[in-house]
Amino acid sequence: MSDKKIYLEESEIPTHWYNVVADMPNPPYPVLAPDGSPITPDALGAIFPEALIMQEVSRERWVEIPDEVREIYKLWRPSPLIRATRLEAALGTPAKIYYKYEGVSPAGSHKPNTAVPQAYYNREAGIRRLTTETGAGQWGSSLALVGQMFGIEVKVYMVKVSYDQKPFRRSMMQTWGATVIASPSDQTEAGRKILAEDANSPGSLGIAISEAVEEAASRSDTNYALGSVLNHVLLHQTVIGLEAKQQFAKVGDYPDMIFAPCGGGSNFGGVAFPFLADKANGKEVRLVAVEPASCPTLTRGHFAYDFGDAIGMTPLMMMYTLGHEFVPPGIHAGGLRYHGDSPLVSQLYNEGLIEAITVPQLATFDAGIQFARSEGIIPAPESNHAIRAVIDEALRCKESGEPKTLFFNLSGHGHFDMGSYDAYLAGKLEDFDYPAEAIAAALHHLPKV
Ligand SMILES: *Cc1c(COP(=O)(O)O)cnc(C)c1O
Repeated sequence: MSDKKIYLEESEIPTHWYNVVADMPNPPYPVLAPDGSPITPDALGAIFPEALIMQEVSRERWVEIPDEVREIYKLWRPSPLIRATRLEAALGTPAKIYYKYEGVSPAGSHKPNTAVPQAYYNREAGIRRLTTETGAGQWGSSLALVGQMFGIEVKVYMVKVSYDQKPFRRSMMQTWGATVIASPSDQTEAGRKILAEDANSPGSLGIAISEAVEEAASRSDTNYALGSVLNHVLLHQTVIGLEAKQQFAKVGDYPDMIFAPCGGGSNFGGVAFPFLADKANGKEVRLVAVEPASCPTLTRGHFAYDFGDAIGMTPLMMMYTLGHEFVPPGIHAGGLRYHGDSPLVSQLYNEGLIEAITVPQLATFDAGIQFARSEGIIPAPESNHAIRAVIDEALRCKESGEPKTLFFNLSGHGHFDMGSYDAYLAGKLEDFDYPAEAIAAALHHLPKV
């Protein structure tokens, strides 16, 4: 009988992160200042430490992971690669299904993989406070977790609708010592502006980012940390794919297709980019980003320069976007409700090196429940998107008789998302297709550069 779980030794935690820029056919588009002019290093230096700015623009293939960061990674890494034998049997597919389980981190998702190095480089730069935003609470809890390890005070602007829907994520952040504010709040100009327009605003990631950036930019002891989208975040997340490659090598297998849920692109980039390096060397492997039909950034958005936040305070990034004023429908995968996407993922998609598909909300919960009833783990609603796509592919293999090797990133567990499962089980969830008119309208609000 072959092993269910493929483990690595702690000594096999990668010593370097992989920078996909080194293997991209074209260099990344430059980041621009909010007015469209070339960005100055000072503008970024107001909210990020120099080491992270250097990683943001690095073209080096390998970036060394500091020992202190690897030491903290040992709290939950290496994460297991698991063969989904029971799901395979339930589906009756000839496909082999593997998943990398990132829910083993204390915060329950992949996000601490970047929270640790971000807090580390900020502490090295003498920073004592970090502000950030959080949607579903996964990122805020990850930064809260590591802040106290590095003696950094953490303040989290949490999207109001999640603040109300997910009280235990808030308790988690407070348990780890962070301060949590519902966004939009009256503590920043950005928040006050939004509240003046709509006192009942449910908030959005874009608005919360505006608030967190405004506070960080106005205080010299405070920096800002972002949990996804930026190049350095995807760089840190490559520990996932690098471990997975070693694990596949151990069992003499290799994926034909890799799936990951895609919000800002960090867990997708983290799991897929190390395999893209093989693709650059001629290996056949398909990399598929899975998005919600209600927030179809890659599949239906515009590839254009846009702001990362709602107000227009951040630099402009060339990315797929639904428009920075996008206020997403209240779907239950909070981590996938962002108007933009990672510039690296966007460019690779634009150049045809990776694929993207959308799946509707109800079908994702259906897949998550099938997974929970076969493999046991209750997945995060975000992860259910990848599971839906994998099950669909495994069923196609059943029809064609192809024994493909399918691999997905189980980006987190759903223990704090049971309210969403409740709503699904009670028949209260709906599918929502983002309207074409709204996508067309966004085009008129993109910054002119
Ligand atoms: C945040 C989150 C995501 C989406 O964010 P990415 O940056 O696209 O990875 C997916 N899954 C889980 C569990 C998350 O917490």
